[in-house]
Amino acid sequence: MDSRLAARLQYCRDLGIYDFYKRDVAAAVAPLGATEVGITQTPAPSGATECSPARSAGYGGQIHEAVPSEPAPSLSRGTADDMFTVPKPESAATDRAEALRLIQEDLGECTRCVLSRLGRKTIVFGEGNPNADLMFVGEGPGADEDEQGRPFVGRAGQLLNKMIEAMGLRREQVYIANVVKCRPPGNRTPEREEIETCSPFLLRQIAVIQPKAIVALGAVAARCLLGLNEPMARLRGRWFDFRGTRLAVTYHPAFLLRDPRQKKETWKDLQMVMEYLGLKPRRIAE
Ligand code: URA
Repeated sequence: MDSRLAARLQYCRDLGIYDFYKRDVAAAVAPLGATEVGITQTPAPSGATECSPARSAGYGGQIHEAVPSEPAPSLSRGTADDMFTVPKPESAATDRAEALRLIQEDLGECTRCVLSRLGRKTIVFGEGNPNADLMFVGEGPGADEDEQGRPFVGRAGQLLNKMIEAMGLRREQVYIANVVKCRPPGNRTPEREEIETCSPFLLRQIAVIQPKAIVALGAVAARCLLGLNEPMARLRGRWFDFRGTRLAVTYHPAFLLRDPRQKKETWKDLQMVMEYLGLKPRRIAE
């Protein structure tokens, strides 16, 4: 391997990026691996080797009618297009809990993006059952999460807890993480560069946990994972395929606190997930 390539690989590793694959210009490739029957993504602009799937998060998927798409390469499995593979630290783990710990260790006291310099107190890695069937992905920590270092512990978190319980689950049974792990100042929406820098760690968490279903909470999480810039109304109420895992989109609990009328719609989304996971409702979310 020549020294420039080695240096480039080290640079990517420092950013938490371990997956490399050669892009096929002609193929429609989902930016972060999401597909739905009828949905394809904008192809990468050039045939160059991409540093990371997350780096190419397109935010520009297109909806086509009834165009079946190939599943995108998984994070954990290689494909025929692989140029080379750099082992991730978590590949040495013997169980999922250890794998997650190794990812967190790799994240370290992260200073990869500006959020580390904009008032962040604590990195909120994510928490829950490493073997969870269901994973929730939110946007980013708020003030309470930043204080406590745990996702969804503020008012929105209390509502998420109720949603989880209504699904017949306990919070400890699921896994909860965010698109960015540091609080954006003033709770602003995370910026594209922040998402692109942070999301490789989320993708690695998903690859380790291998949930049966993912629920993206709100448009930011949906956009990050699906690469689709669609309004919520077009994203919720149906399934997507995210690298072989079913993914549903629903309203963010913080939005539901502002517009409780949408709880009914959210409950429909959650029921769709429950049906797939074979869960029985406990009680309707308030
Ligand atoms: N909102 C989010 O998106 N994530 C959290 O962890 C808390 C609030």
